[in-house]
Amino acid sequence: MTPGVGYAIASLAFGIAKSMLIFCKLGMVLSINRVLALAIGVILSFASISSLSPIAAIASPINSPPVLTEDSNSLPACINTDCDCSDFQYQEDAQAVFDLESGDSHHLDGNPPNGKACDNLPSHSKVVAIPIVSPTDSDHLVLGNPTFATSDINNPNNYLIQEEEYALSYNRDKGIPNWVSWQLNQTWLGSVERQNDFRPNNALPPEWYRVKPSDYADTNYDKGHLTPSSDRTLSISDNSATFLMTNMIPQSPANNREVWRELEDYSRDLVAEGKSLYIIAGGSGEKERISDGKISVPEKTWKVIVVVDSPNFDIEKITKDSQVIAVLMPNSEAVRQTSWQDYCVSVDTVEEVTGYDFLSHIPKSIQNQIESKVNCVKQ
Ligand code: MN
Ligand code: MN
Repeated sequence: MTPGVGYAIASLAFGIAKSMLIFCKLGMVLSINRVLALAIGVILSFASISSLSPIAAIASPINSPPVLTEDSNSLPACINTDCDCSDFQYQEDAQAVFDLESGDSHHLDGNPPNGKACDNLPSHSKVVAIPIVSPTDSDHLVLGNPTFATSDINNPNNYLIQEEEYALSYNRDKGIPNWVSWQLNQTWLGSVERQNDFRPNNALPPEWYRVKPSDYADTNYDKGHLTPSSDRTLSISDNSATFLMTNMIPQSPANNREVWRELEDYSRDLVAEGKSLYIIAGGSGEKERISDGKISVPEKTWKVIVVVDSPNFDIEKITKDSQVIAVLMPNSEAVRQTSWQDYCVSVDTVEEVTGYDFLSHIPKSIQNQIESKVNCVKQ
């Protein structure tokens, strides 16, 4: 074994140990998954070792790995060489190094210096303020999880299902989703034809009843998509995912085929204009039950749409003036020959009716403003 290889192995072991310590501490602070923190630690230590050139390692055998001490446990590996702001995930971590070294030897203070290291990094406190729902949150939950649904079999009436194409909270006892949430922008749209492969969702726990397409037969209701088939036309699998029965509610034909569809069309018109959307939809109340009581028919249908004036959706682009459309409409033939704009309400109204909290990841000051307005047409 050459001294270079020996050194590399020793450094790697040291790097892993040190990174694990640092990220375990970070993991505790942030209450994030400890295993995830360990994994990040290991990855970072490999990344730092791969940046060592073999020549430098062989040429400096006297630089044996430093011994772990109380003080160095919480400091990043770069402290032994040269740190810059990209070595830190949070401002407080950079500040700890800055406070330790006299005279800012790592040049972490900006220009002009203000005594605060790496001002642009996020702060711990800001990060813990965002509710962490799951480490694998999809794009379709970035604005929040309206009912804090979990993928726990013991939570059958608020059961989180995350597809690539959308996320939803399923209600086993109602046989329908409580809500479905999805993003809509040009990247989801193509030319795939409607697959029409309505089918039970076999991903549901095996002991639960799985609603079948035939359960809607001989009722007065359509199998009404929440994430529309036409919002997922890039690939066959995307389009097919919208035909899982867990994406359906019983919808009155006038609702589904007229006003509801017109709002779906309007949404895609906005995307064609270069906007991106974040949509949450569901039903509220119970009108009746169909299919021997297995499926609840909502009294009303509702939808919340956040519009961003850019083809790429980004929570940072949502301001107090952003267009937010909310509708609440009867799930009955009473909506025949009306227009979807007749049913515009504020998000606050939909929150009151459903008891859900929408858009909870948007900063509270902006959330309060956009939720209180009735804002179907951009001002
Ligand atoms: Mn429909
Ligand atoms: Mn809210």
